[in-house]
Amino acid sequence: MRTSESTTPKSTNKTTSSGQHKKIIDTLSEKSLPDLLMDYRQLHAAPELSHQEKNTAAHMATRLQAMGYEVIHPFGRYNEKHRPCYGVVAVLRQGEGPCVLYRADMDALPIEEKTGLPFASRVRMKDDNGKTVPVMHACGHDLHCALLLGIAGVLMQLRAHWRGTMIFIAQPGEESSDGAEAMLRAGLYEKFALPDYALAVHVHDSTPAGRMKYLSGYAFAGVNSIDLIVRGIGGHGAYPEKCVDPVVLSAQIILALQTVISRTKSALDPAVITVGSIHGGTRRNIIPEEVLLEMTVRTYKQEVKEKVLTAIERIARGAAVAAGLPKDRYPLLNRASSLAPVYNSPQLVRRCSRVLKSILGAANVSSGEPTLGAEDFSCYALDGRIPAALFWLGVADPEALHAAEKSAAFVAPIHSPEFRVMAEPALRTGLRAMTAVILDLLKRI
Ligand SMILES: [Zn+2]
Ligand SMILES: [Zn+2]
Repeated sequence: MRTSESTTPKSTNKTTSSGQHKKIIDTLSEKSLPDLLMDYRQLHAAPELSHQEKNTAAHMATRLQAMGYEVIHPFGRYNEKHRPCYGVVAVLRQGEGPCVLYRADMDALPIEEKTGLPFASRVRMKDDNGKTVPVMHACGHDLHCALLLGIAGVLMQLRAHWRGTMIFIAQPGEESSDGAEAMLRAGLYEKFALPDYALAVHVHDSTPAGRMKYLSGYAFAGVNSIDLIVRGIGGHGAYPEKCVDPVVLSAQIILALQTVISRTKSALDPAVITVGSIHGGTRRNIIPEEVLLEMTVRTYKQEVKEKVLTAIERIARGAAVAAGLPKDRYPLLNRASSLAPVYNSPQLVRRCSRVLKSILGAANVSSGEPTLGAEDFSCYALDGRIPAALFWLGVADPEALHAAEKSAAFVAPIHSPEFRVMAEPALRTGLRAMTAVILDLLKRI
């Protein structure tokens, strides 16, 4: 039985001091923890792959509806029109005041769980290509969902204390990088409201549970996926003089691409080019007609991104020219997809980090390091038009971290089969922290 939604604190006086708020938040958070742990375990045991978060979304929608939110589900539209999109939007309008959007992601990964937890996943399901794969919540999105439910529950109970609009989003397709875009494409901001602030939390595998980290400015990289078709002139492997070998050309291009990183942009601007897949040819004695290189380019700044992409094109074409290929056999470069970098609004981060420190204690809140990983939370900021911030929530066992520092022991990172979180302290921390942060942004009464 769920108990946390039924208790509403009485608000007799019009204004409540932040000290009182802190106390109320603590009490309500503590009360809702048993339910949230249940949510967490339930979601952990039943993970679903990107694009297939049907039951997770139903769980989220049911819980949010029971709290009293206006819930719209399923919401979202993928580019591939036949693909259902299981986004959940929950709204609470409380009159004039700021609009705050809080997002959690729902999808899991094709990984076989090896944590040995009593509620470990044994789920197998078909991926987008029809292949049956094991599924595991190895990126903490189950905890993100439970945390969202906790925050939504406490803010609902505290509704007499704030004015404004709260929009909660349970987002599908984060790992596939197309869920946020799908929700925006379906008119998230037009149909509900343009938020004044957008917030999210991601678990952090090397920060102890009980602590949080914030980042000002670039937090995650922008990613461009690029397909480069290196064309040549095919023929018999015995007569390379009658051909232009695209395999050799590809090898030259791949090595030359690394000079883009070291020689075409400032060393102070991070960027990575990874050619993760190369396919060409059918037999050992045939020089093929073409080779496909699939790569990702990661950058923070827009101007660096353009510089790097232009350099890739130049190098590929230059190799073709040097090989004496005719113009109609020059390489083809296709920008398959792109994702903007997560830029945490410094002003918003400054404001929120003050709240985090006041509620968690300064020793439990610190500045984190940026990563060249990607997060499609970036989409909600509309290229910097909406102040947005994503915070790191520590989930690691402090003792395991300590042991790992002293020896060669290993703390399983996210996306690993052994990744596990300390759910209770992490949920408690995230719930107290993010409820206080959101309350601070809304109009308090
Ligand atoms: Zn992930
Ligand atoms: Zn994740």
